[in-house]
Amino acid sequence: MSMAIAIILIVTGFLAFAVISIRSGIFIKSITKSPFDGGILTFDDGPHPAHTPQILDLLDKYQLKAVFFCIGKNAEQYPELIRRIAHSGHLLGNHTYSHSLSSTFYGPEKYFAEISATTRILENISGQKIKYFRPPFGITNPSIAKAIQKSGLKSMAWNIRTFDTMTNNPSKILKKVKKYWAGDSIILFHDRLEVAVVAVSQLLAENALSGYARLDNVIINRE
Ligand SMILES: [Zn+2]
Repeated sequence: MSMAIAIILIVTGFLAFAVISIRSGIFIKSITKSPFDGGILTFDDGPHPAHTPQILDLLDKYQLKAVFFCIGKNAEQYPELIRRIAHSGHLLGNHTYSHSLSSTFYGPEKYFAEISATTRILENISGQKIKYFRPPFGITNPSIAKAIQKSGLKSMAWNIRTFDTMTNNPSKILKKVKKYWAGDSIILFHDRLEVAVVAVSQLLAENALSGYARLDNVIINRE
């Protein structure tokens, strides 16, 4: 076996375990069913200068609200998109400052700094109180669990993973979402990806998300 294949297998195995770990609640209990009055779309890793506005346009058109788990350093780079997300009535969530794979090996203090810096950035830009956190790559471990507990944020996982990071084919995503969509769904998309924009556009055009959560009483302002 070549070194490259060995490394790929190790990384894949590690990520697979990590994804199991957030949903299984081994280290910290995460939300795995929509806590709102219906299913929801969630978008990770933004804001993205091209695709986040496209997603926001679509949500506006169909009058749906979603949850955006934003990366702190992206928020600093595109504060106008953070303001647009908040002003359009969507919920902002914390997805760490750097979203680096190495941050998953940080001790609790250093990981807590990733979370608290991002909460501060998002709250300062949006005026919205941040309540939810989603660990990058779905990775949790005892240090991360400790940091989340200290932050006071609730960890939110998902129950429908679109695998939009692994496919360019929106019909695959559509098929999966339509098969599993229910009133307690939390769907994981990435608003940095064009395939997510296409898939969301088709889902909404086909009116495939009946029983979608309203989210109007969920958002709290900071003061
Ligand atoms: Zn992410």
